[in-house]
Amino acid sequence: MVAHVGITSLSSSIACMSRPRRFSFIKPKPLAMATMHDDPIREWVLSEGKATQITRISSIGGGCINLSNRYDTDAGSFFVKTNRSIGPSMFEGEALGLDAMYKTGSIRVPKPFKVGVLPTGGSYIIMEFIEFGSSRGNQSALGRKLAEMHKAGKSEKGFGFYVDNTIGSTPQINTWTSDWIQFYGEHRLGYQLKLARKQYGDSTIYERGQRLMKNMGPLFEDVLIEPCLLHGDLWSGNISSDKNGEPVILDPACYFSDYYMLATEQPRNLA
Ligand code: ADP
Repeated sequence: MVAHVGITSLSSSIACMSRPRRFSFIKPKPLAMATMHDDPIREWVLSEGKATQITRISSIGGGCINLSNRYDTDAGSFFVKTNRSIGPSMFEGEALGLDAMYKTGSIRVPKPFKVGVLPTGGSYIIMEFIEFGSSRGNQSALGRKLAEMHKAGKSEKGFGFYVDNTIGSTPQINTWTSDWIQFYGEHRLGYQLKLARKQYGDSTIYERGQRLMKNMGPLFEDVLIEPCLLHGDLWSGNISSDKNGEPVILDPACYFSDYYMLATEQPRNLA
């Protein structure tokens, strides 16, 4: 298996890299001020999370879409993302992706714990907090671990994923498809071409793309393409390392496809 890790999605990296990583502390509310039902995150942490006390909540910068917090408790730390304006489907997609990668037992990813809705509107995801090391880690170890994940993460349903998810904030269609050329043509190139036509009102690229899609078949005639699990949004902002220098990957838009396509090159801001 070959792991191509050098390719990144430029539009996403530019949007996110300009943001400095910030840390600030939020004083946890005493129990009397916030009833458990007002705050499902607190409720989970103090029940299934097995904590009896939240000692500190600190905000973490560096994300592109959501608000991130670290919850320190007497049962360890949790990483929590919230989004005040959208329902839980984005985080459900992220949790399913993290879970699928976690279960391969290959590369380190945070274990997802809980997704839910906020009573004030919006949604949240709670996952394992990972203490990052100072560097982005060893790139050859990253490549090897990714290849292990691709080898272990197989699908009997073909190309696609259990749910549609989002790449940046653009929807990513993952309808199960048995044929890779059809999957890539219809749900990747074709979908992006439709978004581009809608956004820019110009059919030229759309029509050229349609021609390309119709003629893709012969380019892959003797190529055996097997579905394997991809991170789906692998760019430098979603790669880190833990305190031991082990590679960690985050914030996926997983699907099963050809491993040559693990670095998505799709424009994000067309929806
Ligand atoms: P967004 O969904 O807004 O793009 P990210 O998933 O990129 O947010 O997370 C924002 C930042 O939080 C990341 O840049 C990273 O530094 C940190 N982070 C993400 N996941 C974890 C985790 N499980 N443990 C610790 N820090 C994390």
